[in-house]
Amino acid sequence: MTEIEIRLARELPAYAARVLEALEAAGYEAWVVGGWVRDALLGASGHDVDVTTSAPWQETARVLRAAGIEVHETGTAHGTVTAVVDGSPVETTTYRVEGAYSDRRHPDEVRFVTDVREDLARRDFTVNAMAFHPKRGLLDPFDGEKDLAARVIRAVGEPRRRFEEDALRVLRAVRFACRLDATIEPATQAALVTCAPELSEIAQERIGQEMDGILATGHAAWALRHEFSVLCVAVPELAPMAGFDQKSPYHAHDVLEHTARVCAGVEEFTGGRPMAALRWAALLHDVAKPACWSEDVSGRGHFFGHPEEGARVARRVMERLAIPREVVRAACALVRLHDFEIRATAPSMRRMLAELEALAPGQARELAFALLDLKRSDAVAKAPACMGYAVELDAMSAVLRRELAGGGVWRARDLAVGGADVIRERGVDPGPGVGMVLAQLLAAVMAGEVKNEREALLAWLRW
Ligand code: ATP
Ligand code: MG
Repeated sequence: MTEIEIRLARELPAYAARVLEALEAAGYEAWVVGGWVRDALLGASGHDVDVTTSAPWQETARVLRAAGIEVHETGTAHGTVTAVVDGSPVETTTYRVEGAYSDRRHPDEVRFVTDVREDLARRDFTVNAMAFHPKRGLLDPFDGEKDLAARVIRAVGEPRRRFEEDALRVLRAVRFACRLDATIEPATQAALVTCAPELSEIAQERIGQEMDGILATGHAAWALRHEFSVLCVAVPELAPMAGFDQKSPYHAHDVLEHTARVCAGVEEFTGGRPMAALRWAALLHDVAKPACWSEDVSGRGHFFGHPEEGARVARRVMERLAIPREVVRAACALVRLHDFEIRATAPSMRRMLAELEALAPGQARELAFALLDLKRSDAVAKAPACMGYAVELDAMSAVLRRELAGGGVWRARDLAVGGADVIRERGVDPGPGVGMVLAQLLAAVMAGEVKNEREALLAWLRW
């Protein structure tokens, strides 16, 4: 065993080793495969562990249960069961290959095989096609270790055929390239571009998962710059961004390069941990600019209404891709408000919170910081003249933090009085009138005209 193999053997979690041991004690062969091996070689052994085995799934279930391990029959049609050892799940799948892919989406059949090498050969990229065993070491028939070290995404086997079998691999290639900071090997890249149109046959929901996965790598900027034609097949609404000259003194770049910079910016300003909605908003914030463009008499470009139209496009795209409802709402709120004018004053911050609350109820607090991060990224991605605004935004963050720490008020329910007080003090009947008074009161508090203290509010109501 090489030094690296010894390290991997040491780092393999004990719960995974137990699954391997139980299967092998019963006379079967078993290996750790896929993501864990790849990430562990890179020095990050925290990936969940997948096991591949010669045992038919019924046997896997029987053997593991006999060893006192809990087993769930999670995907038996594909030979998969999930073992749960000490609370950790280990997906365990019988060696298999896929049959003909007549609809380019689902393998028509899976065929179970006896040789682990056949199982590795059906996997998508060389870096994902390695198996590891703590005693036998690394099994790497396609030189995945070398590609991983060189940061290259290379299809296993004939690239064209592999993408034709399953067009989703086109997006997977982009996602892994982003994630591993890799390049795509030229023949694989050529096949990927040729086969990208076949993505249209893939379920929108699966495309959505891959797009979300690409954003989650934090390297969407790379994908926009290097694989834009592929992204446009997945999300056709992106296409007009390329080469669109903004004819504006505020913009040194076309919408596409600007968007790539904003995507990189939200990573930078959040230390690589933006919320999912912020990543989607960065990608889509200017998506409607080309459609909203007009030129004035001086030849300067304007984009009236692009945040509103952008939010509509973002909603359409994200809903089609089956992104979770909360994320859609939050992302659309950010797109809608990315040009909302704000100043470093408490009333301005409260207005921003109220706008966010109206668009994404319950998410205003988190989204307020996300919106400042989006605005900051947007500013530095425009033209050098806009950099000063980024500094102003720091002052706004400070005001926002102070406002929230001081129990900020931006919803009627934050007020220190309620509907019953309005009915009593104003003598109005229960009904919509109460809400209107509360809204006025909220506006007065948000504008700083009255303090959010019970006595002060009651006095305001009586007055
Ligand atoms: P992640 O951390 O993104 O889950 P992963 O390597 O675990 O990375 P999965 O999508 O969970 O990726 O798939 C597990 C393994 O199954 C992959 O490493 C790859 O070997 C194989 N695989 C998954 N999807 C495909 C596919 N569409 N075509 C070929 N092989 C695939
Ligand atoms: Mg996985």
